[in-house]
Amino acid sequence: MKVLKFGGTSVGSAENINKVISILDQQSKDSNIAVVVSAVGVVTDKLLEAANLACSSNKDYIEKYNKIWSIHNKVIEGLFLNTSKELKEAQEELQELITEKLNNLRNLLDGVYLINELSPKTKDKLLSFGESLSSSIIFHTLKSRNSDVFLKNSQELIITDNNFNNATVNFEITNSNIKSFFSHNTNSIVLLPGFISKSITDEITTLGRGGSDYTAAIVAAAINAKELQIWTDVSGMFTTNPKIVKQAAPIVELSYQEAVELSHFGAKVLYPPTVMPVLKRKIPIVIKNTMDPDASGTTITEDIKANGSPVKGISNIDNIALLTLQGNGMVGVPGFSKRLFETLAQEKINIILITQSSSEHSICFGISDVDAKRAKEVIDTVFEYEIALQKLDPIVVETDLSIIAVIGDKMKSHQGISGKMFSTLGKNNVNIRAIAQGASERNISAVIHKNDVKKALNSLHEQFFEIKTKQVNLFITGVGNVGERLIEQIKQQKSYVKENLKINLRIIGLSNSRTMLINDDGINLKNWKEDLAKGEEASLYTFFQYAKRLNLRNSVFVDITANEDVAKVYGGYLRESISVVACNKIACSGDIAYYNELKELSRKYNSSFLFETNVGAGLPVIDTLNHLVASGDKINTIQAVLSGSLNFIFNNFNDKTTFYDVVKQAQEEGYTEPDPRIDLSGIDVARKVLILARESGHSIELSDLESDNFLTENAMKAKTVDDFFNTLKDDEAYYQNLYKSANDKNCQLKFVAEFDNGKAKVGLKEIPEGHPFYNLKGKDNIVMFYTQRYPEQPMIIKGAGAGADVTASGLFADIIRVANN
Ligand code: ADP
Ligand code: ASP
Ligand code: MG
Repeated sequence: MKVLKFGGTSVGSAENINKVISILDQQSKDSNIAVVVSAVGVVTDKLLEAANLACSSNKDYIEKYNKIWSIHNKVIEGLFLNTSKELKEAQEELQELITEKLNNLRNLLDGVYLINELSPKTKDKLLSFGESLSSSIIFHTLKSRNSDVFLKNSQELIITDNNFNNATVNFEITNSNIKSFFSHNTNSIVLLPGFISKSITDEITTLGRGGSDYTAAIVAAAINAKELQIWTDVSGMFTTNPKIVKQAAPIVELSYQEAVELSHFGAKVLYPPTVMPVLKRKIPIVIKNTMDPDASGTTITEDIKANGSPVKGISNIDNIALLTLQGNGMVGVPGFSKRLFETLAQEKINIILITQSSSEHSICFGISDVDAKRAKEVIDTVFEYEIALQKLDPIVVETDLSIIAVIGDKMKSHQGISGKMFSTLGKNNVNIRAIAQGASERNISAVIHKNDVKKALNSLHEQFFEIKTKQVNLFITGVGNVGERLIEQIKQQKSYVKENLKINLRIIGLSNSRTMLINDDGINLKNWKEDLAKGEEASLYTFFQYAKRLNLRNSVFVDITANEDVAKVYGGYLRESISVVACNKIACSGDIAYYNELKELSRKYNSSFLFETNVGAGLPVIDTLNHLVASGDKINTIQAVLSGSLNFIFNNFNDKTTFYDVVKQAQEEGYTEPDPRIDLSGIDVARKVLILARESGHSIELSDLESDNFLTENAMKAKTVDDFFNTLKDDEAYYQNLYKSANDKNCQLKFVAEFDNGKAKVGLKEIPEGHPFYNLKGKDNIVMFYTQRYPEQPMIIKGAGAGADVTASGLFADIIRVANN
């Protein structure tokens, strides 16, 4: 014989009950079956809400009651659609029966309302209506469809103590009742309501929330069933909670012990006590999906085949409080823990996790946060004397916590699981409040803040089950030329990067100075421009708040602006362990204190701060420099040409043109800023060499830099851009002279940045033929590193140092570096 249990969703609508009925038809063909059913959908929750409202004199309980009423009547109507006269009679009969039960429920609720009291005993009486109603509906429907079915009230079989709401089963009486009943029964289907039981003194009791699974297990064990099937709304026990981690997948096989651990640590799909009765008899448990009966589901048995991953699942329990009892008086004195745990046991407070520091100075334990206040009161009272003598501190309570647990039988024979677990959590800046590892080494659990659960489960799941791909979540601000190119590159390369680099790039946030767009499932890049234009009003602060609140693993803030205000928010991101990738130069070339602070935050919070595109656009200048320094090399001298606009100007200026015309052309073609003096004065180049000097380990400020300005005083003083251009005309002779002087010596004019012996300077230089700078073309940049290891022949990096495409690919490379970190 098999025992089948159907959960709330499985019997939550007429449509689903019809699915249940076809499963029963199928399975009862082979042999007789016992079928346990839960209450319809969310009815148990609704009963509890109605009861609590009534108890607190809130008339809204009537509304809840009406809802319960309509849920059941809708189900009945759905089950008896378009039926014959005969069936109509069956429907009416059922409706009458249900109405009678619902009237009794209403009377009971009215009573609670009148006396403002809801004892655990009354609560059980109320909750029992859920399963009583659902089993009656299913029984009458099956009968009306000519099934050979018998409805047996579980309360006549399952006998418990008087611990209402979570009663303990008396197995001696219960097993004998069940055996005797089934030995006489011959019906193809025996239907039983789950969850409800009766005490020895004939009071209604229940087996704890989720207890229908347990009812089924008790029956299965008593009759030594061939199999216990738990039919629910998911296709088995998943690697982790599928509602929190989309990539979670059903586990094909589990051992009883693994199932116990997973369910005790929050995998709600199986009520924790369920395993014990069937384990003794080695009855397999199969978890199946009513909505997808062909899916193979999860099989739980004693012996399972060797499986690839030592970690089988990750689970979580929310609403945890952590209590810490500490004080010098505990050290070396026996009996403290005994008194502590005895007190909790007397109060029926369940301890979920315990850790004790090796110094014996403190004991820390996790309990459900509804028990926290009561626990504090009783413990402080029990240890009142020691607290008064200051041998112990009053107990400390921390709330808003959750427990996450990594579980698997084979973890004990694998090294490094806890290392991986904690480094994954650390990398994602999940703060761990307490850790416990059972002696069986089947379970490692950690207490974390409840807001970190989603991130922790997702990153651990990625680590243990999807190592293949790492998700990277981007928040991009600034979608001008370069930003647009970056988005295009991401769109184009997304599948390549996923397949070859195992990195799943997702853009979660996009913003320009006007609007912003957020989608935690990843922004669809098909029409991103239109979607962004329709987005909410841009705000740096709100954008940051989104990134912080979503708390996604591997988040990266990408700054593609040249805006000072944006550069000011990096610190906030880094503190939240969100990496920063910037092509904006302001943060790295501004005040050194801020630059150092950002570097420090990046180290402290394990988040990357990368700005490769600050120098030479997509050229790997900073990365190369960092590698040289990290490997112990020392930078002696850096010589570089770092400005595309100045190159353009001096590559085109000669005695056949005028300086005025060349600068005008450069401005018109967009090679310079609207005020060309920003480029010509060399400030941009100065910022770049300053960054290189800082990355080489020198603490220098922009004001320490020597800048050899080749513009005339008139040019610098000119009030407007037009005035400035007029000075170029006036001073043409001076500029021609610069050219002539160089040309006479067969030299080229280049605007050079130099860093030597701790000092940085920028200025116009005459470059002789044969020098690596001499033949520099177009927008090319060049950087030469003279180091201890490259003393005479420098390491040279050369190539296009400006342009949207190369800058975007430099940002892309930084994003990949973050992902690989
Ligand atoms: P039923 O009403 O059928 O008893 P439950 O709601 O009690 O169903 O349990 C099924 C739910 O358990 C799933 O819908 C899922 O949200 C949740 N759940 C949590 N952790 C897991 C897990 N590891 N595997 C499967 N389901 C899980
Ligand atoms: N109906 C009960 C509950 O919701 C029992 C169950 O569904 O397992 O807790
Ligand atoms: Mg359940």
